[in-house]
Amino acid sequence: MSVEDFDVVVAGGGPSGSTIATLVAMQGHRVLLVEKEVFPRYQIGESLLPATVHGVCRMLGITDELANAGFPIKRGGTFRWGARPEPWTFHFGISARMSGATSHAYQVERARFDEILLNNAKSKGVVVREGCSATDVVEDGERVTGLKYTDADGNEREVSARFVIDASGNKSRLYSKVGGKRNYSEFFRSLALFGYFEGGKRLPAPVSGNILSVAFDSGWFWYIPLSDTLTSVGAVVRREDADKIQGDREKALNALIAECPLISEYLENATRVTTGKYGELRIRKDYSYQQESYWRPGMILVGDAACFVDPVFSSGVHLATYSALLAARSINSILAGDLDEKTALNEFEARYRREYGVFYEFLVSFYQMNVNEESYFWQAKKVTQNQSTDIESFVELIGGVSSGETALTAADRIAKRSAEFAAAVDEMASGDGDNMVPMFKSTVVKQAMQEAGQVQMKALLGEDAEPELPLFPGGLVTSPDGMKWLPYHPA
Ligand code: FAD
Repeated sequence: MSVEDFDVVVAGGGPSGSTIATLVAMQGHRVLLVEKEVFPRYQIGESLLPATVHGVCRMLGITDELANAGFPIKRGGTFRWGARPEPWTFHFGISARMSGATSHAYQVERARFDEILLNNAKSKGVVVREGCSATDVVEDGERVTGLKYTDADGNEREVSARFVIDASGNKSRLYSKVGGKRNYSEFFRSLALFGYFEGGKRLPAPVSGNILSVAFDSGWFWYIPLSDTLTSVGAVVRREDADKIQGDREKALNALIAECPLISEYLENATRVTTGKYGELRIRKDYSYQQESYWRPGMILVGDAACFVDPVFSSGVHLATYSALLAARSINSILAGDLDEKTALNEFEARYRREYGVFYEFLVSFYQMNVNEESYFWQAKKVTQNQSTDIESFVELIGGVSSGETALTAADRIAKRSAEFAAAVDEMASGDGDNMVPMFKSTVVKQAMQEAGQVQMKALLGEDAEPELPLFPGGLVTSPDGMKWLPYHPA
């Protein structure tokens, strides 16, 4: 069997896989991604966070495509949760880290969102092979040196690579090869039963695109608007009440809806979708776990292959894309010869564990139902150790920006600087007569000026941004373009 060679091979083309593949390929490395399904394919996890949309997706270069896709705009969340009987609403925009143009996320049909990310990977130079299932890793002593997979025609294939990335989600066949075990949470042991409805009620504008989360006796419901008429509805039921979702799924879901007056009201005039990809009522369980190790020499886990907490605050795609960004920085630094593998991947793992830990710890306290929302806000401040107010700390945590990472939060300033610079160049170029500098008549020069502006913009942003400190003592900081790690040298 002939063995192809790549710098990086990625198993799985969900958000974590396409993100890491793209960010590594953008640095000029040779990347292969194998995906078991042929896209578009169904996936759960439809409510996104601003850090994904305005941080990672901007770095991937798909901000405009997402903005034009017509996904409902999520400005925050509306919760019937805790001791207060009435629903309460939070807005991402109250945090300075997500102000202005970055104060929202989207509710997405994952088949479409994931396809946008995967097509973008292809257009950025990733070799994508769909219908190909990763079966095992190739090892040489301590090191993973390649991947085995079955191609779309059923042939066994092997590729060698400096790094094998497992991004194949919670059903991964590879994750255990990294070492250690998958530790399932003792606390988050719920089960989810979910389906789709046409014609459900909407929250009033301007929060009609918010996620609505409603606690009831057996657990809680998510209610996510995916278009003007289509709604994703799921019941998350405590392990003790698992019998409530046994047997006939239709009857079980209807009984749970009947237990929850607010969701009953929202679905009063709705009909369940019974055909196509949304026609099935699905169940998910055992989804809350964390792998003991996230990497070993030559192999890295990202996204659900590594860990997942709980659906309540839509952290899944954030953790998937953020871990992919962190790992991509490590790989880019190693392949460029800037850092050794251990230093670079310890930084990835420490930051990833920190983000997972913040969500985990906070969500444990969020399941205390006998307190009101102020108590949750206070808890968020305690967990994140932020300087912001309680409510800002809460919104920053669940917006995915509590780490204070410039790459996740400064996107609107980048966009503004970029627009200002382009306008200045245009103005110079559009001068006429004696005022016109002849050089600016040339399109090539204009483009070169605009490119130079990108570099200048990064410098400007660096000036603007808080000076970045390592997240951990002795740790690394991010490069100005967010694509690599740099050693930290205090001024
Ligand atoms: P995935 O999205 O699972 O992608 C993995 C890919 O790998 C798939 O395309 C799969 O086909 C492919 N694959 C699998 N095996 C192989 C193989 N052997 N070879 C090649 N390819 C393979 N997250 C949110 O952000 N918001 C939410 O509202 C939300 N709600 C959720 C509700 C529930 C009930 C659950 C359980 C999760 C929810 N999540 C949510 C989490 C979200 O679904 C995941 O965190 C997210 O999809 C992880 O992305 P990923 O790329 O790591 O994995």
